[in-house]
Amino acid sequence: MFTQRVQGQYAGNVVARRQIACRNNLEVVVLDDDADGQVDVEPLQREIERGNVGMVALTHVPMANGLVDPAVEVGRRCRADTVMFVLDACQSVGQMPLDVHLLGCDVLVGTGRKFLRGPRGTAFVYVRSAVLGELETVMLDGHSAVPTGLGRAADHAVSLGLEAVQERVVGLAGQLRFEVAAVPSVTVHDRGIIRCGIVTFSVKGNNATNIKANLADHRINVSVAPLFSAQVDRVPTVDTIKGDMVVRASVHYYNTEAEIQRLVGFLR
Ligand SMILES: *Cc1c(COP(=O)(O)O)cnc(C)c1O
Repeated sequence: MFTQRVQGQYAGNVVARRQIACRNNLEVVVLDDDADGQVDVEPLQREIERGNVGMVALTHVPMANGLVDPAVEVGRRCRADTVMFVLDACQSVGQMPLDVHLLGCDVLVGTGRKFLRGPRGTAFVYVRSAVLGELETVMLDGHSAVPTGLGRAADHAVSLGLEAVQERVVGLAGQLRFEVAAVPSVTVHDRGIIRCGIVTFSVKGNNATNIKANLADHRINVSVAPLFSAQVDRVPTVDTIKGDMVVRASVHYYNTEAEIQRLVGFLR
């Protein structure tokens, strides 16, 4: 049985897990969020205690919200029952320190192209040596990529220091969130207790795609993402995304306070 949280889940993860579950006659159990919008560890604990949990999958930072899920706490519960814990760190790697021992994960996956600032098309996976023997690569091939650019990006991030990166990113994002929230008609959608460099918002009477296009005309790059409340249906075979889009502004350490003012000024 698989257990995963759905609101912050990446569609690619959901689809792949549904496929594996169908093939192997497994069940995907979807966990709710708590009142702060982060994964609720109590139902997770109950599922673990019920037994038969093959894997817990968590997305550390969701694609469409500025929250950071309590991965350390999830890892602690999984470790206590030796349940495999798979952490998707695609949105967290490169914007905060990640310590696989502290996180207690058996598997951690990351992409190069996001906060790590590596090339598109590169990725990495960490597997704890003790579980390596239990896993088999889905597809084996005689070729592999030369991950030079990814290595350079990782070295660069480490040389800057991920603690310093996180401090800067959280500081800038906090400022952006605060200022954007003060603009009339704007609603900030970020939830959770710990926040990161992703700032999501919507503007009443304006759709996210238009805002993105208008900002692009002013050389301000933002992205759009499904609304936080977007839920993947619990129908096992047909996953439908409900809800609208939000604007997603991601800051990194190289952004400046002046750029934030420019974005806020434009929204005003
Ligand atoms: C972007 C993303 C991925 C996939 O990254 P790719 O670079 O497209 O492989 C997986 N999970 C999450 C949470 C993401 O945001």
